[in-house]
Amino acid sequence: MTIEINLGDVVRLRKAHPCGSHEWEVVRVGADIGLKCLKCQRRVLLERGVFERRVKSLSPKVTN
Ligand SMILES: [Zn+2]
Repeated sequence: MTIEINLGDVVRLRKAHPCGSHEWEVVRVGADIGLKCLKCQRRVLLERGVFERRVKSLSPKVTN
């Protein structure tokens, strides 16, 4: 299954970051997916396949 991801989307991962947050903002989309932790602002890169297995849910970017 391929998930459609866009910059600015917020994703919830199955496993919490060490800081306690489950929510990440998508900051890079490509062969690897860049994520920024919404709580501690740390950035990580995940291979797309790894990312898709870890995602629990995805909320499209909120635009006002
Ligand atoms: Zn964090």
